[in-house]
Amino acid sequence: MGDLENIAIERLKAASEMSLQHYGLPLVITDSGGKDSQVCKELALMAGIPFEIMHNHTTADAPETVRFVRQEAKRFEELGIQYTINMPTYKGQRVSMWSLIPQKLMPPTRLVRYCCSVLKETGGAGRFITTGVRWAESTNRKNSRGIYEKSSQDKERRIILNNDNDDKRMLFENCRLKAKRVVNPIVDWKDDDVWQFLEDAKAPVNPLYAEGWCRVGCVGCPMAGTKGREQEFSRWPKYKGLYLLAFRNLLTERSNRGMFVDWQTPEDVFNWWMEYDIMPGQMDIFDLVEEE
Ligand code: SF4
Repeated sequence: MGDLENIAIERLKAASEMSLQHYGLPLVITDSGGKDSQVCKELALMAGIPFEIMHNHTTADAPETVRFVRQEAKRFEELGIQYTINMPTYKGQRVSMWSLIPQKLMPPTRLVRYCCSVLKETGGAGRFITTGVRWAESTNRKNSRGIYEKSSQDKERRIILNNDNDDKRMLFENCRLKAKRVVNPIVDWKDDDVWQFLEDAKAPVNPLYAEGWCRVGCVGCPMAGTKGREQEFSRWPKYKGLYLLAFRNLLTERSNRGMFVDWQTPEDVFNWWMEYDIMPGQMDIFDLVEEE
């Protein structure tokens, strides 16, 4: 464990130096309220680097996560570390998951995750940020994420470094473009490494993990699949009501715009969104699911 920890700390120190040198501002640790960002915050403290923390409030986060993030903000502010909670905006106006859905005219899906780009991945533009992304989370992450990343609209100019001594490291370090840069210091950690570290560091963790939840972010995230969302809506039923209300407004908006609407009711939208293989209007299956 020691080696992994030391390597991650070295990555943070290198990123901190680059942040100060290229942006004139400290490294930003992004905090989702989950276990991986918890590790990054603790490692940043251990690294002794200057840093600040940012959390993007998605409005669909579980209430326990919202409370945990507030506690963390207080804990770090008491340590003299700036902690910013960004409230989401869309087209210059404050927005929530529920007001965004009618504006986007469709529910967010696994393939069209517009909510992430509006609600979750904002903030940190023109800064050097740290995330808790790990390769062990998915094959997609294994194939697309690196230790250090420099984004660019132009694919040719994107830089992703997959090992600490990558040939492109000099290019990454010396590039003066003010593009958003990312360091993923625990990208090569396994789940067990994360839990062992948090236990050893005696770090506070989101209480939802103790209830057995693996995901502690947005309730109803399409990435959680059908079963996962059913469990979430059974635990936080008010959120299901909020989605149904948003779907009602979505239908009104589509109808006002004279757009094709295959769904008759918010429940039809919900059933389609939950990936229940039923025709619009077949409410009996929906009711059965609700009783589970
Ligand atoms: S619901 Fe899922 S896809 Fe949407 S913002 Fe939340 S995490 Fe991202």
